[in-house]
Amino acid sequence: MTTVEELYDLYPDVLYPGDLKDVPTGWLGIVDCYFAVVGPLMADTGYEVVTARECAGGLDWTWTSPLSSMTEERHQTMDEQDVLLELRSYHTCRVCGGRGFGWAAGRKILTTCEEHGVGERIVDQKQLARRTLHGVVRYDAAADELIVVDPEDV
Ligand SMILES: [Zn+2]
Repeated sequence: MTTVEELYDLYPDVLYPGDLKDVPTGWLGIVDCYFAVVGPLMADTGYEVVTARECAGGLDWTWTSPLSSMTEERHQTMDEQDVLLELRSYHTCRVCGGRGFGWAAGRKILTTCEEHGVGERIVDQKQLARRTLHGVVRYDAAADELIVVDPEDV
C-alpha cells in the first residue's frame, strides 16, 4: 500500500511533510491518483494543502494557491480532480484501500470494506452529486469517472 513517505517523495512541489498526517492509510492510494494529475499541473504555483482529514465518511480536502497562478486550464482540471478525490473517498476503504461503503457505528460514519466494517452498513446510500464547472456530476465507481447528470434528477 502507498505510504505517506512515498507521497512526500513523489510530490515535493505540492506536498509538505505533515500535510497528510490526518489522512487514513487506506485513502493514500486515491491521494496518489489525485497528485499524479495535480502534482505536475500545480508545481511552481504555490499550491498548498489546507485541510486533509476524514469527515463523516469522506475526505475533507481543501487547498490554496495564489489566484494569479490559476489559469483557465488549471481551474477546470482542479475543479474536476477535487470532486473526484472527494467522491472516490466515499467508495474506498479507509483501512485497506479496497472497495468501500458507508457504515454507521454509533454517531460515527466510516467508509470501509466488508472486512473492516464496524457497526451497521448503510444501505440505500443516496448517490452523491456535486456541482462542478462541467455541470452536476456523480461518481461512477466501476469506471472511476465523473458522470454528468441531469440536475433535475438529483
Ligand atoms: Zn478494508
